[in-house]
Amino acid sequence: MTDASIAASRILQLRAELDEHNYRYHVLDEPSVPDAEYDRLFHELKALETLYPALVTADSPTQRVGSLALSAFGEIKHEVPMLSLGNAFEETDLLDFERRVREGLDLPAGDLFGGAAVVEYSCEPKLDGLAVSLLYRDGLLVRGATRGDGSTGEDISVNVRTIRNVPLKLQGEGWPVVLEVRGEVFMSKSGFAALNARQLEQGGKTFANPRNAAAGSLRQLDSKITASRPLEFCCYGIGQVQGELPSTHIGILEALKQWGMPISRELKLANGADECLAYYRDIGERRESLVYEIDGVVFKVNSLAYQRELGFRAREPRWAIAHKFPALEELTELLDVEFQVGRTGAVTPVARLKPVKVAGVTVSNATLHNMDEVVRLGVMIGDTVTIRRAGDVIPQVVQVVLERRPVDARPVQIPESCPVCGSHVERTQLVKRSKGKETFSEGSVYRCVGRLTCAAQLKQAIIHFVSRRAMDIEGLGDKTIEQLVDEGLITSPADLYRLKFEQIINLEGFAEVSCNKLLQAIADSKQPSLARFIYALGIPDVGEETAKVLARVLASLERVQQALPEVLTYLPDIGLEVAHEIHSFFADSHNRQVIAALLSRDECGLQLQEQGELSAEFSASVTLAAMLDKLNIPSVGPGGAQKLADKFANLEAILAADWLDMRQTLPEKQAKAVREFFDNVANAERARAIEAQLQAFGMHWHSEKKVIAGLPLAGQTWVLTGSLEMMSRDVAKEKLENLGAKVAGSVSAKTSCVVAGPGAGSKLAKASELGLRVMDEAQFLDALADFGL
Ligand code: NAD
Repeated sequence: MTDASIAASRILQLRAELDEHNYRYHVLDEPSVPDAEYDRLFHELKALETLYPALVTADSPTQRVGSLALSAFGEIKHEVPMLSLGNAFEETDLLDFERRVREGLDLPAGDLFGGAAVVEYSCEPKLDGLAVSLLYRDGLLVRGATRGDGSTGEDISVNVRTIRNVPLKLQGEGWPVVLEVRGEVFMSKSGFAALNARQLEQGGKTFANPRNAAAGSLRQLDSKITASRPLEFCCYGIGQVQGELPSTHIGILEALKQWGMPISRELKLANGADECLAYYRDIGERRESLVYEIDGVVFKVNSLAYQRELGFRAREPRWAIAHKFPALEELTELLDVEFQVGRTGAVTPVARLKPVKVAGVTVSNATLHNMDEVVRLGVMIGDTVTIRRAGDVIPQVVQVVLERRPVDARPVQIPESCPVCGSHVERTQLVKRSKGKETFSEGSVYRCVGRLTCAAQLKQAIIHFVSRRAMDIEGLGDKTIEQLVDEGLITSPADLYRLKFEQIINLEGFAEVSCNKLLQAIADSKQPSLARFIYALGIPDVGEETAKVLARVLASLERVQQALPEVLTYLPDIGLEVAHEIHSFFADSHNRQVIAALLSRDECGLQLQEQGELSAEFSASVTLAAMLDKLNIPSVGPGGAQKLADKFANLEAILAADWLDMRQTLPEKQAKAVREFFDNVANAERARAIEAQLQAFGMHWHSEKKVIAGLPLAGQTWVLTGSLEMMSRDVAKEKLENLGAKVAGSVSAKTSCVVAGPGAGSKLAKASELGLRVMDEAQFLDALADFGL
């Protein structure tokens, strides 16, 4: 075969493949490969067609834009075609573009003395969404269309009307009678995260990236679905116009802004290619902190007269170019799935990948989260997968390219025994307790039951125990801990306090000075606050905040250790799940032994600080009514519980009440339910035990609720989520607390307000589901300013 015939057959193959990808991407909104892979195939085709111009056909993907419109929507013919953009990947591509522009305009090349006219460019981020045309007649939105194949798009008029920042009517005056506005419909990063979280919760389909989510949401036949999705619009140009407009691209965008159109806040003017490159670098550096995803920046010759002079090539204008950033998604092969054991014994699948560069970083591992995710992805070992690396987030496997599955692909199986210690691996169970009933379902997490006998868990437990926010023992790095565990010198955190000079000096990297320093640091850690100690224990689901709450409210380790799960749920932000984790941690005999050794004067000699009386806040919140409510007696809510408390004043009186008394207090159905509930001996005993414990803690029923009176946010609970850019979370929290608010870690119906920064996910989703008040950082700062902060 000749070179030309090899090229011809490769060209046919590439076209078929690109057509298929175009269809999936533009019509189905379900691409099977990442954009970087599409771009590679596209460029291979372009290069071959440049070599063999005779083989170029009008239907080649290099000559066409997008793909045909979906027939389910009405068709819309674009008066002015909606084109694609040429791409620059390297700086030299951009310099070539400027050279072509200057040649096209017949401008001489610049010299040192500034002889040549400088070309002005508008610079905008290239939002990663989908192109949309909006037609305004007499200032009213009359039509919305997708780009489709550039000449015919889909009629999505109803759907675009649901996008919050699309003006239905232009503001001000002076707009052309016919004005077609073009721009990108996209989804912010936080909107995307919240949508996916919601979809997961409701068992719906999740989206691989914000672009697919935006496209899939906009091209819905049911506009109610579109309305429920967090879509936004950003305008970047115009199509047909009847009337006057300014003579530059930036001038037009600024006029559009006056008329109420959202345009990019990053819009800038650049003089010549050098300033364009500076813009590219600046946006590149800020790419991760932008609230939306971009795949590059777009440069357009600013003068419309120049634009007209330059004109178009087949599918793209000669006066504009997209300068792309490194792709966030790449293809690679899943070589294997290994299982890692974490501090709490969770056995999690980790993808071992054929190394691949994603956005400038070589990735060889990616998280698969848990076995549910493996099932959801349908991934098998040997598969070709799409890897996504956005921001600081650990790279993720987002999709499987099923077409490339090899015949010998193997399923991913959770090991029966722990890969580190050989103990049994169990699937966790989720317990849901409501109205006195417990229902069990399978959790997504598998756990090694070996606890501290498992070297992996032990190492992680010690790393956590000595960490800065826990016992803060300096000089004990991860490598040293690994050695100590591997050589059997440590089998629990208590052993740290038994370490001898002779044992440490023999470890790698230790000399006399560092050895003494470490021993001193260990000795210095012997008087931790109660909160630090609780946090250091590494109880599953107990982070620093929960540890602080336990310490502040219960104020003694003994109370924390003894507290019944129901009693723990009286504490702020502790739900029944966490309460059970805490309770079962302290019920475990091995844990009890380790704690006893740590606190024993003859062994480790730790002395916990900041212990004392039960907090007044707690005593005030625990009323008999609240206790009865928490017992979850079927059909008895807070109102019924209050009536019982008012009438009987103590638990024994309720247990002994005769039917008549009970009936006078509650409606028959509820009275019966109370009776039946307490007729069950286990329930009565449980209630007595809770009451006894509360009394042993020094509680008594007639206490009044105290409020932090006088402060503006007293009685409110706020939640901070996502990342804040202007201040750290700690500072934000402190400010809120100074105003009298409580700052909680999770969202519930009782939450007063949620402050959501970029990257906010499930908490934001929950907040919008519950219809709570949500503010972004700017609004939060305004609110603080109102209080003089
Ligand atoms: P493009 O995305 O490279 O550029 C043109 C588009 O950029 C415009 O239509 C508009 O929607 C958008 N845009 C964003 N900001 C803009 C701004 N400020 N000014 C002007 N336009 C702006 O080209 P394309 O033809 O839309 O699509 C091709 C791209 O789509 C490829 O780069 C490829 O990565 C991707 N694609 C992927 C697959 C796949 O299977 N993964 C398939 C087809 C296409």
